[in-house]
Amino acid sequence: MNLDNCPRCGKLYAKNFMGMCGNCIKDIEAEYDKCKTYLRANKGAHMQELSEATGVSVRQITKFIREGRISIENNPGMMYPCEVCGTTMLREGTMCESCRARLTRDLNEAAKTMNDDESNGGPTTYGAVNKLRKD
Ligand SMILES: [Zn+2]
Ligand SMILES: [Zn+2]
Repeated sequence: MNLDNCPRCGKLYAKNFMGMCGNCIKDIEAEYDKCKTYLRANKGAHMQELSEATGVSVRQITKFIREGRISIENNPGMMYPCEVCGTTMLREGTMCESCRARLTRDLNEAAKTMNDDESNGGPTTYGAVNKLRKD
């Protein structure tokens, strides 16, 4: 049997496709039920409100949304935090505008640095230096 520590509660469990132990799966199902019931009665509920009313963490609710179990379309008040900065609230995608802009800039810079390395001779230069060096 393939044993692992449950990422949620830390207890040893037999690995399964859910990636967590039986107790946690049951807990999460119960949490999902609580969210669903609350949202049914309170259509415009916001993330914070739902979390406080049900005792379910914002992180877990965000997971439900990402898994498609809680629908954003049916719950106009629902928003989830940006995956990168965790502060901007979103209704679509995984990251906010400013994080996306920053990421694009970082990628462009990384690409530029790589090109610079190549024009300097890159790995060949390092190889030559290593050959000359006496240890
Ligand atoms: Zn667990
Ligand atoms: Zn962000």
